[in-house]
Order: sequence, then C-alpha cells, then structure tokens
Amino acid sequence: QRNLTRMPVWIRQNLGREAHFPATRQAVHGQGLHTVCEEARCPNRGECWSRGTATFMLLGDTCTRACAFCAVKTGRPTWFDADEPRRVAESVIAMGLDYVVLTSVNRDDLDDGGAFAFAETLRELRARKPGIGVEFLTPDFRHTQANAVRVFNDTLARLPEGARRDLVWGHNVETVPRFYREARKGAKYERSLELLALAAQQPGIEAKSALMLGLGETQEEVLAVLRDLRAAGVSRVSLGQYLRPALDNLPVARYVHPDEFADYEAAARELGFAWVKAGPLVRSSYYAEEIQLAVGSG
Ligand code: SF4
Ligand code: SF4
Repeated sequence: QRNLTRMPVWIRQNLGREAHFPATRQAVHGQGLHTVCEEARCPNRGECWSRGTATFMLLGDTCTRACAFCAVKTGRPTWFDADEPRRVAESVIAMGLDYVVLTSVNRDDLDDGGAFAFAETLRELRARKPGIGVEFLTPDFRHTQANAVRVFNDTLARLPEGARRDLVWGHNVETVPRFYREARKGAKYERSLELLALAAQQPGIEAKSALMLGLGETQEEVLAVLRDLRAAGVSRVSLGQYLRPALDNLPVARYVHPDEFADYEAAARELGFAWVKAGPLVRSSYYAEEIQLAVGSG
C-alpha cells in the first residue's frame, strides 16, 4: 500500500483521480485483455483514454524477471495465445484509439522473447486502421535482439502501402547503471543500450527510452544516462517519479521536485532529444502520441 500522507502534494493531489470509461473497460475485459493503464492504476488514465491513447500488455501476466521496483508477478509463464493480436486489434478499434502502446512482460522462456506477438499485433492493427500510431515498449530480448529487429523490419516491409507508417520502439533503461544489480536483476545496462542502438539504426523506427527517478540516483548519474541514450541514437525520452507499488518493492529514496524535472527536460532538449517528457507523474507512454499527432494535423 502507498503511504499517501508521506507523499508530497504534487504527487498526492493527482492519485485517485479517476475517470470512468465503462464502454472502454468492456472492450478490454470482454476480450480477456489487460491494459497497463488499469493494472498499474496509472494516475493519467482518464486523460490518456479520453485523448485516444492506451497501453496494452501482451503475453500474459507472469514475468521471467523480478525487478525490485515492479509489482508484476514473477514465475514460469506458460501463457501463449496465438489469437491475442487479433483481439487486441479489435479492442483498440472498439475503443476508438488513434495511438496505442504495446508492451509485455519479459519472456526469456520464449525462443524469440515474444517479438512475434508484437509484430503480429502491429500487423492486425494496421490491417484494420492503416493510420494508427503504434509504439512498442519491449523487453531487452536478452539473446534474441537481432531476431527481434528482423521480425519487426519484415513486418513493417510487408504492410500494405498506406499502412507503412513509422513505428516507435521503446525500451526503458529505467534507472542509472549503479542500481541495476539491486533493481533490475537479470538485466544489463549495456545490453539495454545495445538494443536501443539497434532500434535507432532501423529505417522507419524511432528509439525511445525512460527513466524513473527517486531510487537515490544523483543528478550527474541521470545526466550521464541521458548522454548515453543520445549517443545510442535514442530520440525520445521520458523521466518520471518512482512510486513504490507495494511494500515488498524498493522504497522511494526521494521525491524529486518538479523544478528538478524541469531541469532534466531542458538538459534533454539541449542534448537533442526530439520528444521529452519529464515530471512527477510522467510515465513512458504519457503523451506518447504527441509528435505523431502534431505531424498528422500539420
Ligand atoms: Fe496508460 Fe501510459 Fe497513459 Fe498511464 S501514461 S494511462 S499507462 S497510456
Ligand atoms: Fe516488471 Fe518488466 Fe521487470 Fe518483468 S521485466 S519484473 S514486467 S519491470
């Protein structure tokens, strides 16, 4: 449980604000699907859903990793549903979304790390709505990065003309390298950077990453990560406050002041990121559609 009384006002005032979208919820739950917006009780969901954006979770609810900041359950997943991409696409259409973020648990147990599920969902989505903005937020594809790149490129190339729009490929570094051992067991900072660099090199793909602050990192460490991301070719970045999802997760070491987030945003822009979001309640998928919509309406 979160201890609301100890949170600063800029966090507290937003949590618990809920908008109700019964039709939207039915479109998701009726198909046996899950959105991160709901599962993580994201404070932004009223805003995002009414703007036409949501984040879907693919490949089940059991993760092969156990990050110390994450509430998703760890275990040996058995779940694979070949029909999930079609159902996700149908739900997205029923929800009237213009931009969808697809993410998944880590599936180190699958030969392809789950890349096929991302690609198939993209194909099903663009078959129904060629103009829809799609963003992947993927695991690090531990031993299968090159395969994931091939699968995504093949899928993009096979889309019919008119549906061959760009794709954002996000992978979150989450925290500074000093905390990887404690916070991201099984992950490696360099491996995450390698994946992002591979993503950034692909034509028609933009690379994106995110950091959550408040685990005890220094400002210099945050700036160093931003520089590493730019050096890898990443063009979109978000920074938000870490909020402890449950008591057995890592405690919050510090609530970062909104002014400090503003400083990181300015620093990131100076480094040349094209899209930057930084603030206490920013999540990696928050305003994800912004550039795309700005381009579309121009
Ligand atoms: Fe969903 Fe992301 Fe928006 Fe939160 S920020 S409501 S997870 S799309
Ligand atoms: Fe959670 Fe992702 Fe870590 Fe799995 S890999 S425990 S879903 S943050």
